[in-house]
Amino acid sequence: MKEIVVLSGKGGTGKTSITASFAALGADNLVLADCDVDAADMHLFTAPETRHEEDFFSGKTAIIHTQGCTHCFKCMKVCHFDAISIIEGDFVVDPLECEGCSYCFHVCPTRTIEMKPRLAGKFYISKTRFNNTLVHARLGIAADNSGKLVSKVREAAKEIAGKERVDYVLIDASPGIGCPVVASLTGADFVLLVSEPTVSGIHDVKRVYELISKLKLRAGCIINKSDINPEMASALKDFMKENGIDLIAELPYDIKFTEAISSGKTVVEHDTGEIRSILERSWNKVKELVDK
Ligand code: SF4
Ligand code: SF4
Repeated sequence: MKEIVVLSGKGGTGKTSITASFAALGADNLVLADCDVDAADMHLFTAPETRHEEDFFSGKTAIIHTQGCTHCFKCMKVCHFDAISIIEGDFVVDPLECEGCSYCFHVCPTRTIEMKPRLAGKFYISKTRFNNTLVHARLGIAADNSGKLVSKVREAAKEIAGKERVDYVLIDASPGIGCPVVASLTGADFVLLVSEPTVSGIHDVKRVYELISKLKLRAGCIINKSDINPEMASALKDFMKENGIDLIAELPYDIKFTEAISSGKTVVEHDTGEIRSILERSWNKVKELVDK
């Protein structure tokens, strides 16, 4: 079983449309992992049926049980995050401000403060309409630790892939180079970059390349909307050549990507012409490189 991570330096490059198309083409020979937990949207393309759902806890939040509180102010004095205030005479913790450091818990003379596991999001295992398993999650509002949730999604996807004896885990990573991206990438077999021929597109590919070369990962790239700026597309290809990044495909700008999103379909379902055949060839080429 091989892990393929689809990644872009920023949002809006067509990364998720391309990943969803590969999920449709790969059907039941892959497990799909939506590791973009801050803005998960793979479910919009795949209409999954949830088979398993669980709460995801990460870190702790202080709770003050007002009975027993002697109003000594010690907790409020030590909280560096101004998370404790007095509301209608009671000491209260604002869960959005609390960083879970437990300082207040340790100084409270009456043991009135409890450190409770923080509900940070939801974790799901579903079956998509392409008959593959989708592992996905949703991070709660203002919740952090998305790296931990990404690792959970990825590990579960690998475990399921082993049980289902499929050949690939296809990972939709969050854009950028932050902690959740590193959690999606480490130890993967192949990274597929999705970029656009713009100044920021080239800048983003360079940033992402720095990260993947540090992690010693093999990479290929799809240039989306490659015809909107042939000069930039050529600069992008030069960079790829210099750095051993395989050019997987160039996709022309096509309104069918937007139409597919509006109709809740993948672009390979929406288009039976040129775009579909480029994406079919791309998926086959990625598999060929991964299996080498
Ligand atoms: S756990 Fe830390 S951040 Fe939260 S209320 Fe207590 S002292 Fe403040
Ligand atoms: S430290 Fe404990 S007893 Fe003192 S104000 Fe805070 S919760 Fe109340």
